Amino acid sequence: MTGLQTYRAKRSFGVTREPRGKLGKRGHAFVIQKHAATRLHYDLRLQLDGVMKSWAVTRGPSLVPGIKRLAVQVEDHPVAYNRFEGTIPKGEYGGGTVLVWDRGRWRPEGDPHKALRRGHLSFRLSGKKLHGGWHLVRMRKRPGEKRTNWLLIKQRDEAARTTHDRDILKEMPLSVKTGRTLEEVAQRMRKARRKKSSNKRRKKTAKKFRRKAGRAKRQ
Ligand code: MN
Repeated sequence: MTGLQTYRAKRSFGVTREPRGKLGKRGHAFVIQKHAATRLHYDLRLQLDGVMKSWAVTRGPSLVPGIKRLAVQVEDHPVAYNRFEGTIPKGEYGGGTVLVWDRGRWRPEGDPHKALRRGHLSFRLSGKKLHGGWHLVRMRKRPGEKRTNWLLIKQRDEAARTTHDRDILKEMPLSVKTGRTLEEVAQRMRKARRKKSSNKRRKKTAKKFRRKAGRAKRQ
């Protein structure tokens, strides 16, 4: 899964406002997008070779090293996706509201290409919410399993927490981009759409009126 072919094939860009995107620059940006699709999940994306390597973390990251979170590998996303916050229309791929839950830089420990091939990537995050070391460990595929499942696990370091500490997902639920909740992001999208469609209606009426006026003049 390299390049953006799969990403583009899954989406209708006339309908969704997600970016079409192109191959980006090399760099080490990371983003985690909170995504209220059929089920709420958190999409972890790590920039590598001009794309965002992506995993859907079903229950979101945990700062407790003993807790392993299922991270289903999904198609590479364009780097421009990192700024995307909004609602993907119902019925479209990934339909639901997305907010930018965390972002910053990541740093692989060792060669990330080798690590991804081998199925164990250790890396450090330096975001607004998440810090310190993490592991992504690929699970063995069960017979008939189509998805590639990984586990996201916090390393034991100064940024780790215990089960007695607060859950970072509950403590910091808002967008780091706009400070909004998922509901607020969705509301704004609904308002923007209403405005757009009422503008369209207004323009249509004005056009009709101009046509009528034109006819009247000619008669
Ligand atoms: Mn998602």
